[in-house]
Amino acid sequence: MKLILLGAPGSGKGTMAAVLKREYKITHISTGDIFRANIKEQTPLGIEAKKYIDQGALVPDELTISMVEDRLSQDDCANGYLLDGFPRTIAQAEKLDEMLAKSGSKIDAVINVTVPAEVIMERVVNRRVCLSCGESYNVVSRPTKVEGVCDVCGKEVVHRDDDKPETVKARLETYEKNTKPLIDFYADKGIVIEADNSQSPEHAFEQASAALAKMGF
Ligand code: ADP
Ligand code: ZN
Repeated sequence: MKLILLGAPGSGKGTMAAVLKREYKITHISTGDIFRANIKEQTPLGIEAKKYIDQGALVPDELTISMVEDRLSQDDCANGYLLDGFPRTIAQAEKLDEMLAKSGSKIDAVINVTVPAEVIMERVVNRRVCLSCGESYNVVSRPTKVEGVCDVCGKEVVHRDDDKPETVKARLETYEKNTKPLIDFYADKGIVIEADNSQSPEHAFEQASAALAKMGF
């Protein structure tokens, strides 16, 4: 099964990804996590990507696409995967279709995680993430047991540089302009599933999994 997760920054896309990964035992590929790991290690890719990420802008398509192409060629992707944070532009989506077509494959479903706009800022500003396993927390609603330490893997949990209010605003604008059009792009193919995440991640997961079951997954 090849899935894409779409959703605005702060929609709970990351939490949803963790649940899908666990329930469907599917390889989870988060472009944001890969960029953050590269920034932490100060690789050439990380140093370049950071310039854009800190502005709330997108990393250029060429860099992002080649990184994803490389990741998808690894063994753990052979039986499917969950793409989280990719594609984020129409150009990336078209390129992904092209890559998949080469092996006679395609995306099975696109899960669109939605949440009311007013919830987003609060969630993102209070968010903390694990740089190692990608688990996310919220200082108000879901704190770590030990401050600054990931409950799952014991590594460091931080406030992302791009989770500052000014940057979140820029990221939301970037999302509206570049990524929202993808919903229509995939709706035209009839593969969009809605997951309303305004109540709880469990509720959003139930909604998505029921739709996936109808599609035979
Ligand atoms: P969120 O979904 O919370 O905005 P992510 O962790 O998915 O955050 O991504 C963080 C940042 O990494 C984005 O704001 C963007 O700068 C960069 N990024 C991630 N994925 C892509 C992509 N597919 N194309 C371009 N830039 C990306
Ligand atoms: Zn962790």
